[in-house]
Amino acid sequence: MSQALLEVQDLVKHFPVGGGLLKGAAGVVRAVEGVTFSIQRGETLGLVGESGCGKTTTGRCVLQLEQPTSGRIVFEGAELTGLSQDKLRTVRRHMQVIFQDPYSSLNPRMTVGDILAEPIKVHRIVSDPAKRQARVRELLEQVGLHAQHARRYPHQLSGGQRQRVGVARALAMQPSLIVCDEPVSALDVSIQAQIINLLEELQARFGLTYLFIAHDLSVVRHISDRVAVMYLGRIVELADRQSLYDEALHPYTRALLSAVPIPDPKLEARRERTVLRGEVPSPLNPPSGCVFHPRCPIAVDRCSAEIPALREIKPGHWAACHLA
Ligand code: SF4
Repeated sequence: MSQALLEVQDLVKHFPVGGGLLKGAAGVVRAVEGVTFSIQRGETLGLVGESGCGKTTTGRCVLQLEQPTSGRIVFEGAELTGLSQDKLRTVRRHMQVIFQDPYSSLNPRMTVGDILAEPIKVHRIVSDPAKRQARVRELLEQVGLHAQHARRYPHQLSGGQRQRVGVARALAMQPSLIVCDEPVSALDVSIQAQIINLLEELQARFGLTYLFIAHDLSVVRHISDRVAVMYLGRIVELADRQSLYDEALHPYTRALLSAVPIPDPKLEARRERTVLRGEVPSPLNPPSGCVFHPRCPIAVDRCSAEIPALREIKPGHWAACHLA
């Protein structure tokens, strides 16, 4: 039996667009097209790709903030699509999210203390008000803030402190899974490392599992056990961190890696960059065959006719490319 905390099988999410009320949909945005992955307890899976590749929609489907068009999502052994609203509410408590922009996700009219106390009260995790305040202080300490931050409003905090509050709010629900949706993209580089270190410490302390969504491979490198690369709604490569960074098999992953700066200036000067031609095509009208073929530097005739399956090329290392 699988020990996975989360299993996503053949997830599809289409959004009908345009047309107007009486005309029906004019087209379909194919945001997610048959995505399959699992995450073990205590593991971090990095989900990486350019803007519009479907990674955030995948995260939103996992959190049940979007209803999948088809596919299965199994969390802690329960298939989410078949659950009643009541059961779903309980299950959802165990999955939390940390958003990219902590400023817009925190209510500006509430103090930090109230922001953290509210979900604890609503979900009846701690009913006694004095104990709830103690829990708020404990959460602040766990994310590296002080008890006096409870009296501040979000605008009185720095970007990094606000994101710590976002992390504390997720922890307040004692989740087993946290979907981190670009949690450091809006922060200065120096602060990014602090938040990533904090997430790692909390994972070790509380046995958390993360789905860590990012648009660039350098951000997920240190925190991920495995990394999945998405392009135009599909996973094109999935491997453990070492294999992905050292022996990427898919031309898209290789292109993304070639854009990640190397700290050593000599190596940086010598390495070759793969510049992808063109833009990511529209998910309204994705290319035939391999969706990457119009931009792929090594495409052959077969690529525009046949969709490559995601195949296990080496143990644990999957790629969707005819030439891998
Ligand atoms: Fe490139 Fe063809 Fe492989 Fe797609 S299947 S990545 S187009 S070589």
